Amino acid sequence: MNYGTDWGFTHTSIIHNSCFIIPMSNAPLKISKVVVDRNLCIGAAPCTSIAPSVFQLDEEGKAVVQPGWEGTDAKTILEAAQACPVNAILVYDESGNQIHPK
Ligand code: SF4
Repeated sequence: MNYGTDWGFTHTSIIHNSCFIIPMSNAPLKISKVVVDRNLCIGAAPCTSIAPSVFQLDEEGKAVVQPGWEGTDAKTILEAAQACPVNAILVYDESGNQIHPK
């Protein structure tokens, strides 16, 4: 068996004693908080292209999380965060755990 395979399980998985990964839930990812680190942001703007309802540049050329961002699906928000070249976007799940950057 190839244990190096990507099993596609979510962050809600646990590692069992036998080293198998057991999925605990297939619940969709929910994001509780999105933060832009203004000290890191360089205004490169892929975030605003991917998720314009979540990120917009302000007058200083820094991304700002927009009111109502919660209406955007988690996959799009995570995709935008992952596209940031300097990892300036921090994403937290519903338990308050930082899920990006890891
Ligand atoms: S992708 Fe990153 S660096 Fe570019 S504007 Fe967004 S937060 Fe800032």
